[in-house]
Amino acid sequence: MTDSTPTLFTRIINRDIPAQILYEDDQCIVINDIAPQAPVHMLVIPRKPIPRLVDATAEDKAVLGHLMWVAGEVARTAGVDEAFRLVVNNGADAGQTVFHLHLHVLASKDGTQQFTEAQL
Ligand code: AMP
Repeated sequence: MTDSTPTLFTRIINRDIPAQILYEDDQCIVINDIAPQAPVHMLVIPRKPIPRLVDATAEDKAVLGHLMWVAGEVARTAGVDEAFRLVVNNGADAGQTVFHLHLHVLASKDGTQQFTEAQL
């Protein structure tokens, strides 16, 4: 049986829940994380609610690539293109709490590394 309950991020995409939306296109949306672990902490989220990275299929290869490309673009827009990290938590034991695939884009404005890795 498939769970048709919209994910938290689908509800944000549908404007049912407010969020700071930084970018969106036909395939994804970028928001500020509500509990930032670094001075810049953005989430790149596909419109398609793929639960975890391992649930992506061959059909999803293009959107996965697109998410990476958008991450670079928003990092540039945020002025952190010289130093940022991408994190994907896959599975609860890896710290995933929202089961709708997303890329964390993490950076400090001054290029130093100030991440709370245990909380990502
Ligand atoms: P993960 O633990 O990898 O699944 O990441 C989920 C992220 O979503 C966490 O960093 C949360 O702080 C973030 N988050 C949860 N709810 C919201 C929300 N309403 N708006 C923005 N970010 C959120």
